[in-house]
Amino acid sequence: MNQWQYKSDLSIILCLLFFSFGLFAKELLYKPDDNVQKLDFTTFETHLNESKAAKLIKFYNGFCEDTQRFIPVFRNLSRKLYNWIRILKVNVLDCSQDMNHRICRSFNIHKTPTLRYFPPNYTRSRYDLGIEITSRNANEIESVLASHLQKLKYFKMFAREDNVTYIFRDHTYVKYVVLVFQMCMSNFFPHWETGHSMEERIAHLDDCNEDNPVISDMGRNTLLALLRYDEVVVRVFDDHNIYNKFGISPVPNLLVIVNSAGNLLFLTPEMDTSEAYVATIEQFLKFMDHKPQSPLQKTLPTNINAALRTDIFEQLENQPHRVFRADLERAIDHILNVELPKTPLFVGKKLTVLRNFLRLLNYISPLHPEAKEKITSLYYSIRVKRKLSGVELKELIWKSFKEYKFRSKLYIGCIASRPFLRGFDCSLWTLFHYFTVESGHVKDGSVLLVFTGYVQFFMECTECRKKLKEFEVLRPITDLAKKDAQILWLWEAHNNINKQLAGGSTEDPKFPKIQFPSEKDCPRCRDDQSNWRMDEVLKYLKHIYCHENLSWFGMASAYPYTS
Ligand SMILES: Cc1cc2nc3c(=O)[nH]c(=O)nc-3n(C[C@H](O)[C@H](O)[C@H](O)COP(=O)(O)OP(=O)(O)OC[C@H]3O[C@@H](n4cnc5c(N)ncnc54)[C@H](O)[C@@H]3O)c2cc1C
Repeated sequence: MNQWQYKSDLSIILCLLFFSFGLFAKELLYKPDDNVQKLDFTTFETHLNESKAAKLIKFYNGFCEDTQRFIPVFRNLSRKLYNWIRILKVNVLDCSQDMNHRICRSFNIHKTPTLRYFPPNYTRSRYDLGIEITSRNANEIESVLASHLQKLKYFKMFAREDNVTYIFRDHTYVKYVVLVFQMCMSNFFPHWETGHSMEERIAHLDDCNEDNPVISDMGRNTLLALLRYDEVVVRVFDDHNIYNKFGISPVPNLLVIVNSAGNLLFLTPEMDTSEAYVATIEQFLKFMDHKPQSPLQKTLPTNINAALRTDIFEQLENQPHRVFRADLERAIDHILNVELPKTPLFVGKKLTVLRNFLRLLNYISPLHPEAKEKITSLYYSIRVKRKLSGVELKELIWKSFKEYKFRSKLYIGCIASRPFLRGFDCSLWTLFHYFTVESGHVKDGSVLLVFTGYVQFFMECTECRKKLKEFEVLRPITDLAKKDAQILWLWEAHNNINKQLAGGSTEDPKFPKIQFPSEKDCPRCRDDQSNWRMDEVLKYLKHIYCHENLSWFGMASAYPYTS
């Protein structure tokens, strides 16, 4: 089509680079090497019920800008949390996927990203949908997680009557139990004089009592830092008398290490801080030739656009044919803000087509209720006009829509694998097919009048107008009284035009111009001799283009418009 000839060489090169990157590099938003495991509706609940580890789950929608902004922070955080993988798994659930909607709804996900913490053995109840973590700062999130994790059995205080033999018995890979004395501040006020960092000293002052023997940060931090060593289990105690159990008298900064043979080793870190404790124990482990878990492979920062393209292509390849709201919104956005204002003057038939197009949008539109109100206001402001310039139209659109932003930024069903293909042209067809199927509230035949008027007056491509005119001669619109006939007329027109274009330079090799629908998507639409079965074609078109069956995939909002 001739509009493509105007693109500059530079933009062509840039686009080719962008597209080829998207095609060849299978970029992912969340890489397994970043310590992130992706869940879906089939794995979500069983994974949560799993007893071994707690979970941090990010509910996300890659098309939402807030999610996109948070991706680098979350990636760094999840890589750091790899040190805690023994007790905490990091997961993501994609709320933009239609198949995951039910779960996102049942967990009351109203915005993305949403972070929730789930303890091991979690079972969903109305009152417990996980613990929300609102911070978007990696250090703060880590510290909130630590405070939740310390309530796990793994952190239970070592008591006088306990002994460590069961640890060696139950976990054959464990070679050492490290016992860290952690004074309870409320019981041992003199400990204020020791070298604890202020933060570690005061963090859990209120929690430290017999009913709630939650450890303070120092023991907890030592434990968390040593999770990287499979051979070590850290147990924390706050009872002085436990020293007697080992036949020694308490001295400051003393670490007790018990090996699997029951032998004791005493280490004295230089300072009374978790960092010094960890450094001392690590020195010992190094001496004993034990290494921490291997670090994660280095990964490149996420290329969000390329990753979204991967997601979109995967969605199109693996799911039955769907019609996407995102394409309909892109079409409406582009028609209003780019295509229509190109017309120098709307008068006579052109003005009628413009008005009728807005009327259609006013009655049957897939838009957000807020956008529908804007369309209504635009429609009423244009209804009274006798003529209107493109510039005036642009101003009226701006006045009606103001700051409103359409919630789709990318084509989904109309995505192209190469530059300058598909996109808007594809979405224009999609929009009008949707109108024919949803035209219950408008006068019979009016969708096709708007469609043919739109092509005649507002499509720049002369060849397109010619092709549609030729089809109109073949199938005159005057015959079309009923809604079903409109649906089938547009379907036939589309197939007729695409038959002429199949195999040509405007065909996207990844999306060949077939006679629609394909055998695979609708096996019942053709009889044994491959002739169309009109009743089945109609049923199929009504099914895929009807409002309720539109896919939300590709929309920036996590929650459907109606809820
Ligand atoms: C009136 C008109 C004339 C055109 N003439 C030309 C031309 O001369 N030259 C040119 O290069 N381009 C022309 N185009 C654009 C062309 O038809 C395609 O829109 C464009 O090439 C993009 O093709 P596509 O592969 O994305 O699929 P499209 O043909 O745009 O189809 C869009 C989507 O609609 C669905 N679909 C396909 N066929 C049907 C059907 N029969 N019924 C219901 N749904 C269907 C599929 O989901 C498909 O992905 C014309 C467009 C219009 C509206």
